[in-house]
Amino acid sequence: MKEISCKLLVIGAGPGGYACAIRAGQLGIDTVIVEAAKPGGTCLTIGCIPSKALIHAAEVFDATRQMAGGRNAMGIRVDQPSIDLAGTMAWKDGIVGRLTSGVSGLLQKARVKIVSGRARFRDGKTVEVETETGQQIVRAETVVIATGSDPVELAALPFGGRVISSTEALSLRQMPKRLIVVGGGYIGLELGTAFAKLGSEVTVVEATAQVLPIYDADLIKPVTRRLTEQGIKVFTNTKAIGLSEKGDALVVEGPDGQQELPADQILAAVGRRPRSIGSGLEDLDLDRSGPYLRIDDRCRTSMRGIYAIGDVTGEPMLAHRAIAQGEMVAEIVAGKKRAWDKRCIPSICFTDPEIVSAGLSPSEARAQGYDVKVGQFPFTANGRAMTMQDEDGFVRVVARADTNLVLGLQAVGSGVSELSAAFSMAIEMGTRLEDIAGTIHVHPTRSEALQEAALKAMGHALHI
Ligand code: FAD
Repeated sequence: MKEISCKLLVIGAGPGGYACAIRAGQLGIDTVIVEAAKPGGTCLTIGCIPSKALIHAAEVFDATRQMAGGRNAMGIRVDQPSIDLAGTMAWKDGIVGRLTSGVSGLLQKARVKIVSGRARFRDGKTVEVETETGQQIVRAETVVIATGSDPVELAALPFGGRVISSTEALSLRQMPKRLIVVGGGYIGLELGTAFAKLGSEVTVVEATAQVLPIYDADLIKPVTRRLTEQGIKVFTNTKAIGLSEKGDALVVEGPDGQQELPADQILAAVGRRPRSIGSGLEDLDLDRSGPYLRIDDRCRTSMRGIYAIGDVTGEPMLAHRAIAQGEMVAEIVAGKKRAWDKRCIPSICFTDPEIVSAGLSPSEARAQGYDVKVGQFPFTANGRAMTMQDEDGFVRVVARADTNLVLGLQAVGSGVSELSAAFSMAIEMGTRLEDIAGTIHVHPTRSEALQEAALKAMGHALHI
């Protein structure tokens, strides 16, 4: 049996784990990373990247279809398009392949040793890994747990047959004629919308009173409007009970009682659970917070020399949070003084249209006792939005009424995900309304709506 020792051992090469290992390698720390699947984790292989590729392909197809249907005012005429889903998936797989081999290259460049196989903890500082060439023992002074998360499986709808998770949905080779999405969170809506644009009849079943419950009604309105325009049926306050007797329909219970919704495929997207048990983690003396590993502001667990980062540590389960934690932990292990002092973790939803939010919404700010100024600027008054034939949505700025300190920024609209950097930076840097209003924004861009929203909060928007 082969045995190796290192200073830092990272378990899991998702965004959290690989960012940590790369930074540690850059800092000269002797680092080993163990990965059971492909480097890149959920994000690169079965999450962020493949879903955004599918969404983009679906948008291109849908736009072309609309032109063919004679619904475009730009004078472009095309023949009826068709879709080869296997071809779309192969294109998506190519992007995933480029990125995962890119991560391997970055790890190698940082002199990180990659061990391929599933790690199992023997004790807090030792793991055994089943590799292709046999068992390997890795011992380390410091360990980082970055094992990520899995899709939640509903007891009434176990995965298999027609019932799939986001992982299988991102690798379908045949278009489902009728797709039911259980769960109106961001993963369900992103994928449901993509399949609707690719030609499936999509129904969304959501147990609570609204889809995307983390956002306020104003932000959700353009999304629900677009869901209806796309022919997506949404059942709110409705629970999935199980499969019908024949197994070809989903039984749901809502305000009108029970009914069967015929389905070729049922995508259960009801959340993700941390991989905090299994792999011997259950035998370690690690404190937990519900199903998550409990960490402090330096991502230290309750066991000395063991850190945890990313989805395994809790919400928000987002790749950019995992990356930020990974980079910070590597620096701490190198002896630098770091702590988690982020003012915000921006949230994002690649629905149609997109939603992005950083910091506090108006109601959250008021609930925290702030007297606030709110400036909202609609894309109907933005020239770039008009030229892109997509004027739905707005940018909103929330600031303290007494000092103009920016507390939060939100936007809904086509392409607003690209405003997220400006939003986060504004909050991290303690920006005031005057800073945003006084910054020259390039014309014509959608980001001018941010400047106008700040001006509006100050009472003197120029273009509305
Ligand atoms: P993961 O990425 O889950 O990586 C953990 C890795 O650990 C895996 O590769 C796994 O194989 C490995 N592993 C686990 N146990 C072991 C073991 N015992 N031994 C060896 N290896 C092990 N986030 C965003 O920010 N933006 C988005 O747009 C977005 N879209 C998403 C879309 C979908 C469909 C899904 C499912 C997720 C999406 N996410 C998005 C969430 C994002 O993917 C996760 O937050 C992120 O991947 C978490 O990173 P992580 O490093 O904590 O874990």
